[in-house]
Amino acid sequence: MRVIFLGAPGSGKGTQAKRLQERAAIPQLSTGDLLRAAVRAASPLGKEAQTYMDNGRLVPDGLVISLIVERLQQPDCSKGFILDGFPRTGAQAVALEAALAERGTPIDVVINFEIDQKKLVERLVGRRICPHGHGEWHIAFNRPKKNEQCDVCGEPLVHREDDQEEKIVTRLAAYNNDTAPLRKFYRERGVLKNVPAEGDLDEIGRVIRSLVGAA
Ligand code: AMP
Repeated sequence: MRVIFLGAPGSGKGTQAKRLQERAAIPQLSTGDLLRAAVRAASPLGKEAQTYMDNGRLVPDGLVISLIVERLQQPDCSKGFILDGFPRTGAQAVALEAALAERGTPIDVVINFEIDQKKLVERLVGRRICPHGHGEWHIAFNRPKKNEQCDVCGEPLVHREDDQEEKIVTRLAAYNNDTAPLRKFYRERGVLKNVPAEGDLDEIGRVIRSLVGAA
């Protein structure tokens, strides 16, 4: 099962990708998580990506495409994967399609997270993430078990630099300009499925599982 989660920042892609990863035993490939890990490791990629990320701008296509194409070659992707936050531009979508066509393993379904954009700011300013990439929570809607600590490793959760209100405006503009047109790209390929992404997380997860055939 090869799935793309498409949606604006804060639409719940990461939370649902983690849930589906557990249920379907296929990896979540989050370019945001991979890039944040590169920044933490201060690798050449991390150093190049950091300024873009801190300012809420998209990292250049070439960097992100090679990162994900390399990741897709790992053995754990052979049974499928959930792409979370990739592709985000037309060039990324075309490069992904070409890389998968070479192996005869096209995308099966693209889940489009539908949400009123007015809700996104509230979701993002209240979001807290594990500094070691174990997941994300929300101070009001999806609280961790212990106050502001990661449920997996216990580390204090952090508020992402790019989840500050002024950066969110830039990120939503990038989504509207560069990423939203991908809905048409995938609709034309007959793989786009819309999911209302507001409301109960378990219910949204059930809808997604039924659409990807993992019920
Ligand atoms: P995310 O965790 O998906 O919200 O991503 C955080 C940041 O990483 C984004 O605001 C971008 O700066 C960068 N990023 C993640 N995925 C991509 C991508 N597919 N293309 C370009 N930049 C990306």
